[in-house]
Amino acid sequence: MSKAKPHPCLNCGQPDMSLEEKDVTLALGGRTFVVPKVKGWHCPACGEIEFVGNGSAECYSTALDAMSASLDGRQ
Ligand SMILES: [Zn+2]
Repeated sequence: MSKAKPHPCLNCGQPDMSLEEKDVTLALGGRTFVVPKVKGWHCPACGEIEFVGNGSAECYSTALDAMSASLDGRQ
């Protein structure tokens, strides 16, 4: 009876996020960046990500830093 619990999205209320590892595309300042293999709960409706494990969150924030740095360097 109790299988995997549904994982609701905190952002938009979508009741069933999916747990997977996938490439996430970020857009900032007219440029796009891809963070590969982000492991976590991904919301199919709004794109919200709930990271699973420290590695994914770290990769993601490192990518965000790199994005900001490269944009700053161009202006
Ligand atoms: Zn959502």
